[in-house]
Amino acid sequence: MKHFYLSILQGILALTLTLVPPVGLRAAELKTVDDFRAAAAKANAILKVPDWEQTPEAVDAAMKDAIATANKALDEIGAQDLGKVTFKSTIVALDDLTYQAGNAANKATIIKETSTNEKMRTAAENAVKVFQDWVVGIDYREDVYKALKAFADTNPKLSGEDAKLLFETMRDYRRAGLGLPPEKRKEVEQLRKELSKLGTDFDTNIVNAQAPVVFTKAELDGVPESLFASPGIKTGEDAYTVKANVTWQFIMVEENAKSEATRKKLYVVHDSLAKDTNVSVLNQMLTLRNKIALLLGYKSWDDFQTEIKMAKSGAGAKSYIDRLISGVQPKFDAEVFTMQKMKAADTSDPNTKIDVWDWRYYDNQLKKQKYAVDKEALRNYFPFQNVLDGMFAIYQSIFGLKFEKIAAPYKWIDDLQLYLVTDSATGEPLGVFYLDMFPREGKFNHFAEFEIIGGKLLSDGKYQRPTVALLCNFPPPSADKPSLMTHSDVETLFHEFGHALHSITTRAKYGRFAGTHVPGDFVEAPSQMLQNWVWDKKVLDTFAADYRDQSKKIPAEIVKKMNDAKLATAGVFYRRQFAFASLDLALHNSHPEDAPYDCVAISNPILEKVFLPIDPRTTFVSYFGHLNGYDAGYYGYAWADAIAADMATVFEKAKGGYLDRQAGLKLRREIYEEGDSRDVTVSIERFLGRKQSIQPFLKKIGIDDKNTPARPSSETK
Ligand SMILES: [Zn+2]
Repeated sequence: MKHFYLSILQGILALTLTLVPPVGLRAAELKTVDDFRAAAAKANAILKVPDWEQTPEAVDAAMKDAIATANKALDEIGAQDLGKVTFKSTIVALDDLTYQAGNAANKATIIKETSTNEKMRTAAENAVKVFQDWVVGIDYREDVYKALKAFADTNPKLSGEDAKLLFETMRDYRRAGLGLPPEKRKEVEQLRKELSKLGTDFDTNIVNAQAPVVFTKAELDGVPESLFASPGIKTGEDAYTVKANVTWQFIMVEENAKSEATRKKLYVVHDSLAKDTNVSVLNQMLTLRNKIALLLGYKSWDDFQTEIKMAKSGAGAKSYIDRLISGVQPKFDAEVFTMQKMKAADTSDPNTKIDVWDWRYYDNQLKKQKYAVDKEALRNYFPFQNVLDGMFAIYQSIFGLKFEKIAAPYKWIDDLQLYLVTDSATGEPLGVFYLDMFPREGKFNHFAEFEIIGGKLLSDGKYQRPTVALLCNFPPPSADKPSLMTHSDVETLFHEFGHALHSITTRAKYGRFAGTHVPGDFVEAPSQMLQNWVWDKKVLDTFAADYRDQSKKIPAEIVKKMNDAKLATAGVFYRRQFAFASLDLALHNSHPEDAPYDCVAISNPILEKVFLPIDPRTTFVSYFGHLNGYDAGYYGYAWADAIAADMATVFEKAKGGYLDRQAGLKLRREIYEEGDSRDVTVSIERFLGRKQSIQPFLKKIGIDDKNTPARPSSETK
């Protein structure tokens, strides 16, 4: 009876409580960022939700303001007495001002990518451009350079993060040519401008390359009906026009056309796109890059590009990729052999071989015949909210964090969510993140994490905690179904949210080194590592359940099949990646200054040697957009994959596997918190507790090191 009494009392209390707040204040049940300010102050930290501009004029003015403030700070650096320069008045002052201006640009970027108002987006896009032009100009502020150099010339005794900041800041100036005599510096500036123009031409030629190829229905036998039904495909009685430059059309034909002649014809056209224009543009770009590198005192452009990466030199990148190339050899050989058997059966030619126009087709056949998984049915296990809650539970637990939904003072869309992250052990607030998860007109159309306010120790001794946003495009809910994600969507969410945690948990002192501001060939590795989580049955079972019946988990045999499918042609996938990485490095390797370039003669033999036989008429590099922007950097994808696999072993060997808290906390401490405040190679080795190795990567794609070079190392074509 006591129980009865109590429950009545509780009922009354509950009723009273719900009646107290006036109607309409329901949202106020959520805490606000203000509720965490006291805790932040206790940790000597600042939390901030940006004031979002509401008009195009305000967007414009905010950027002008930010640049004016930064210019004033630059003037102050440049105007000081060179006899009295200090670390704080030069190197740190520059980090302070670029950090503040960078935050203004970050905010404009978010407005550009999310605003529902086209005029706001245009104003923000313009503001970002204004910022980019301004940033380039900092390199050429001679007065600022002189002040910084005066400080560097005192040979100050600095250590740790301070020493790294000094070293890398001066390195930037050297790389921009500020260390050169005036006439040579002018030449570098001039060459850079020309290079940038050629880069724009290269990109434009790729966008403009058109290549319609007409086939008969019989020639396209095997290609799904959906292609024939698409607008613009049927162009005559028995004429079907496929555009080699439209990626999905190209891939659909290459993956499905039974006729080798059809596959080859379309491939030759595709791999010759922009041949007439870009072969010569690329040759000129390579000439200019080589000249710039030599003028700046480097042996080659790949040395220039990799100096600021983990690889440190072109040779460092090359030897890593070469080790991976020979490491996957047995798996690659076995996969090509399997495809060869399939092709031999198709063609009744026992001596047939797999050429570059065959692999997509046999890869697809293999997956259809042996590893078919119904991707659509799998979506039922991934309703958006369950996946989000499940991921939150895992990350909160392994990284020792707490995520709390708070009220957003301003929302650019109704379903925008704002969360506050605290350390679960100490209650210290660490940062804030926005989630903008579903597509709409005019919004950024990929999936990415954006930093809005970076982490930094401010000049008053307080630490500015980061604010970030995830902008994604998951399938929106419909009238009768919740948002149901694909497995690949789930993988993307785990990946992108990893970047958010990398940003938010930072402890680096300087903006330059905080969060994800790490070398380009490392930044993806921690997030690529987290992708492993969604291929693990134990992890999936913590959140993936049929939305119509929560007791139904994904069957073990399906998870196994998914993993087997991923592994089935991993050797072919990676050898193709390595071929691209190798040819990119070869194009940017040492080259006599006045010798002309022949980009096709350099790259085609590498494609053939590392991947599969090609048609000699093709010019793959003329349509390889990465060569402008990722030049001497393509290797970074494979590099980060290999490091990701290496780092995953810390979890795989831990008691709790991917849910192990000790391993998670170690990742947070050694990788996330450090950012680039110390050499990332040191951070990785501290996390691993040993030197790096490529063996875990090879093992992950199905190569057991005990079985490795069982066959002679013949060159596979
Ligand atoms: Zn990423």
